[in-house]
Amino acid sequence: MELKNNSYLIQGLDVLKIAKEFGTPVYVYDAEKITQQLQTLKNAFSNQRVKIKFAAKALTNINILKLIREQGAGVDVVSIQEAHLAIKAGFKPEEILFTPNCVSFDEILEGVELGLIINIDNISILEQFGHRFRHKVPCCIRLNPHIMAGGNHKISTGHVDSKFGISIYQLPHLMRVIKTNDIKVIGLHMHTGSDILDAEIFLKMAEILYGIAMEFPELEFIDFGSGFKVGYKENDIVTNVYDLGLKLGKSFENFCESYGRKLEMWFEPGKYVVSDAGILLVRVNVIKTTPATVFVGVNSGMNHLLRPMMYDAYHNIINVSNPKGIQRVYSVVGYICETDTFGWDRKIHEVREGDILAIRNAGAYGFSMSSNYNSRFRPAEVLVYKGKAHLIRERETMEDLLARQVEIELN
Ligand SMILES: *Cc1c(COP(=O)(O)O)cnc(C)c1O
Repeated sequence: MELKNNSYLIQGLDVLKIAKEFGTPVYVYDAEKITQQLQTLKNAFSNQRVKIKFAAKALTNINILKLIREQGAGVDVVSIQEAHLAIKAGFKPEEILFTPNCVSFDEILEGVELGLIINIDNISILEQFGHRFRHKVPCCIRLNPHIMAGGNHKISTGHVDSKFGISIYQLPHLMRVIKTNDIKVIGLHMHTGSDILDAEIFLKMAEILYGIAMEFPELEFIDFGSGFKVGYKENDIVTNVYDLGLKLGKSFENFCESYGRKLEMWFEPGKYVVSDAGILLVRVNVIKTTPATVFVGVNSGMNHLLRPMMYDAYHNIINVSNPKGIQRVYSVVGYICETDTFGWDRKIHEVREGDILAIRNAGAYGFSMSSNYNSRFRPAEVLVYKGKAHLIRERETMEDLLARQVEIELN
């Protein structure tokens, strides 16, 4: 989204016109930005045999998945339903990495039947897997290196009391299970969370993986997960992927040399690919002055964008209707009967009832975490593709709210 001659534009299209045409609240995604992000990653690792597996849970609209597939990326899914969506979007099963956590063995079996690459993060599942398939079906192992990514406990997955991955301290047990069942391990995986700032943490994680990798003679890839930090505030530090490409690339080359073969280097970015490409457009219902603050009440809430309430996530908020107005201090809140604050003490160009606000960085974990709480409809989704705005999901209606409800006789 760029400001030009007093209007906010996406690929030259006026954002206010998009809000008018499709109504609000509406998620709007910029296909060009998604393509650019993927391209930047590819460029940063152009010296490696790199594979990008988009973390589908960030944004699962089938058109987005198709767009990402067309860019040559694969996909990482965390449920069998996401796997089915990915297959529907045209991904081949072998391009899909299945990384579930705490699912039943039956769901793993479904993944095997579909032909997905299974990423196992639990020794009990690995035992069942090995007992069933021996060397016939390869798998990937998710390890927990116990590295704390960023400062936010809720989005960090590598710390000691995390439920994700097999602890590196369980390596002796892990190796016993693998040898006893003759399990074919073709990949090692680590994903420590979403807030890694610099190459140093990746390098630390990589060193741990390299050491362990020497024990696995049949590897085809090492998956470094995600952790690419994107900017939410104006001067936020973001992961410098070119710096990472150079440093991690070099360490990976050294490793491959000692390993004796050139392996593939995998990443699973979600936010990095789609966060900044998406905005949530909302309309201002009311301005409400209280002794404490001036509230801006909008026609959306935590039912549509949960991140601020769930993770204390900061999302920049812009008044698209009044880009040149004087700046004042507001607290932007939703219409849900809960405290659903989008942002406290925000300086925003003067807000009037009826104005359209854009909540930025809404592409990742926006729609995909939305719900019908308060019996509100989930928003529409629009994709700006090649200079044209396309509706890619209709706004819900009363029929959707009642679709699966079964009315019984009460007397
Ligand atoms: C969620 C997730 C990702 C993506 O994380 P981002 O912070 O969105 O980049 C990658 N890998 C796994 C296994 C995940 O669960």
